[in-house]
Amino acid sequence: MDYQSTRGIQRKITASQAIIQGLACDGGLFVPEEFPILTNEDWTFIQHTSYPNRAKRILKKFLDFTDEEIDYCVNGAYNEKNFDTPEMAPLVFLHDSLAIQELWHGPTCAFKDMALQILPYLLTVSAKKNKEKNEIVILVATSGDTGKAALEGFKDVSGTKIVVFFPEQGVSQVQKQQMVTQTGKNVMVAAIRGNFDDAQNAVKKIFNDKEIAEDLAKNHIQLSSANSINWGRLLPQIVYYISACATFQQKGMQEEINIVVPTGNFGNILAAYYAKKLGAPIHRLICASNSNKVLTDFIRTGTYDRNRLFEKTISPSMDILISSNLERLLYDLTDQDGEKISEWMRQLSTEGRYTVDRKTLEKIQALFWAGYADDAMTYKTIAQVWRDDHYLLDTHTAVAYHVYQQYRKETNDTRTTLIASTASPFKFAGSVVKAIMGETAIQKTDEFTLLKKLSEATNLPIPQGLRDLDQRPVLHTTVVNKEEISPVLMDYLQIKKD
Ligand SMILES: *Cc1c(COP(=O)(O)O)cnc(C)c1O
Repeated sequence: MDYQSTRGIQRKITASQAIIQGLACDGGLFVPEEFPILTNEDWTFIQHTSYPNRAKRILKKFLDFTDEEIDYCVNGAYNEKNFDTPEMAPLVFLHDSLAIQELWHGPTCAFKDMALQILPYLLTVSAKKNKEKNEIVILVATSGDTGKAALEGFKDVSGTKIVVFFPEQGVSQVQKQQMVTQTGKNVMVAAIRGNFDDAQNAVKKIFNDKEIAEDLAKNHIQLSSANSINWGRLLPQIVYYISACATFQQKGMQEEINIVVPTGNFGNILAAYYAKKLGAPIHRLICASNSNKVLTDFIRTGTYDRNRLFEKTISPSMDILISSNLERLLYDLTDQDGEKISEWMRQLSTEGRYTVDRKTLEKIQALFWAGYADDAMTYKTIAQVWRDDHYLLDTHTAVAYHVYQQYRKETNDTRTTLIASTASPFKFAGSVVKAIMGETAIQKTDEFTLLKKLSEATNLPIPQGLRDLDQRPVLHTTVVNKEEISPVLMDYLQIKKD
């Protein structure tokens, strides 16, 4: 199976080439030219086997890898050294008709581990296959979760280096401590004086700088990115939705389910859509946003409009106004009309908005439903679910839970539902403590103390990845101005200007 660009210009390439390249030359994203349909035999196999075996069966359909290569990737990523449960992505049933899929049992306690634990393997195998001799340097600007998950995934992976820039003022105390205590021989972490946009723009500049690219090429270095525009990050996410459906079937549930996903860049919910395309019994995909509700408005009206105030919320990983992966959905729903997609994306970059045609909107609304929760609703939902079900939600998952309730009320659809839970409540301990114990409980208290407080109040253990965080030695102390990013990077890579 080959991969093509959503803008329709770049020629088709193999899966391994798409994973190395990341973004297509025409600015588009890589997608498979066609999607396989799982057979009855596939489903029977998947129902009765482990998560790693489920992953192998599905990945095999999408990659130009040998069985041995797939085994190597999956076994390296999904094991009990990296995840604190053999199920990898366990389902917790709150009621007969509501299950939460906990996607945060990996090393950094957020769902990004599900993809970033395996991406380094997919990338290094792809590089070997294509006789790529250059060293791969992963360059990341992070607002918190991606940076740490990428560091954990790529640390000590031979043939790679990982460099992460985070905004000094823009991440939580816990997130910062997770990154500055990072171990590994091939890692560099630096804070930038500025906000996330400053970090992101500085990194983008490096990616687009021809002179830097030449210097790197001369030194046998290939820059690459670990964000969700890469097919290698999306593919592993399809697996857990198929896996959840198989678990439902195993329990004797035959009917279609709804899936609610707390959404930012549209990657996670797109993976659920792809699972449906593969034949998984999924009815509605419910897109949950926080106050940055560009997607809610888009799915309801057909107009995508990023011209609005950016809001900082208590679900920061969803604070996004440009959801890059939406492009892949639109490409699929327009029957792969690369010209149309190019035009909409051009309008998005020049005017900040575009409107899809009626036929496309009808298709979107037949598949998706959308709602949002602001911070007040999010706090309320965490408190309510803790009180009524004795289950502790993080802020992102609480947004999804609120939208799930909204959907049932407005549509009377009572189908069995799966909510994708994207982070451990401990990762956002401050907001969660405030939700269940009130404002006074967090006053004059640092985040490390709050972790302990939350554990004591709920009787839940602090996850391994966050335990004793304040005791670990700080290994990275570099703080740079945004103009200094590129010299600092060149210095780390030992590249001398001639
Ligand atoms: C990244 C992230 C999201 C958003 O996922 P997308 O794939 O960008 O839609 C939601 N919740 C958490 C905790 C995240 O880290």
